[in-house]
Amino acid sequence: MKKIFLNLVLVLLVSSLQQCSYSQSANTKQTTMDNSKKDNKVYSRSDSSKVTLSEEEWKKVLPQEVYYISRQKGTERPGTSKFEHSKEVGTYYCAACGNALFKSDTKFESGCGWPSFYEPISKGSIIYTPDNTHGMTRTEVVCGRCKGHLGHVFEDGPPPTGLRYCINGVVLDFEKAKDAEKKYNEKKS
Ligand SMILES: [Zn+2]
Repeated sequence: MKKIFLNLVLVLLVSSLQQCSYSQSANTKQTTMDNSKKDNKVYSRSDSSKVTLSEEEWKKVLPQEVYYISRQKGTERPGTSKFEHSKEVGTYYCAACGNALFKSDTKFESGCGWPSFYEPISKGSIIYTPDNTHGMTRTEVVCGRCKGHLGHVFEDGPPPTGLRYCINGVVLDFEKAKDAEKKYNEKKS
């Protein structure tokens, strides 16, 4: 009888511990998401100076999924980006450093599973590097400010450029037109 009672206490204790750790991890996740940019002091939509952080420093300031793609050249699963079919008018920025990359009017439905654009916002916003990994000859596109991996560019896009910038949505930040346009034009003039 005593043994049964002890077992019962044990079961109750374990389940309450599980409950506790579950709600704790849920809370932690929420906090990290809210604070994702607070620690990232290089993130700026107005400062165009180049960013050079060590991989260790990047790891500290970027959310895990951004770090994986931007710094480790990862690829998000196709069809998982909220931006893939978005038609909202605005500007797309590098999620790692805030550099302006694409305008929504150069975005098109490519059907490839990732947000696609036919032209970057300016010549310097993107850097091109040859990528011969995975047995393919491709051109990798990285952010012109922080050199973070964005995706690849292919020559099967629509006019006027004929290019398709195939970009991981995880490393994009989006700002709706009005504010972004105003800031961008101020910076240009
Ligand atoms: Zn960047």
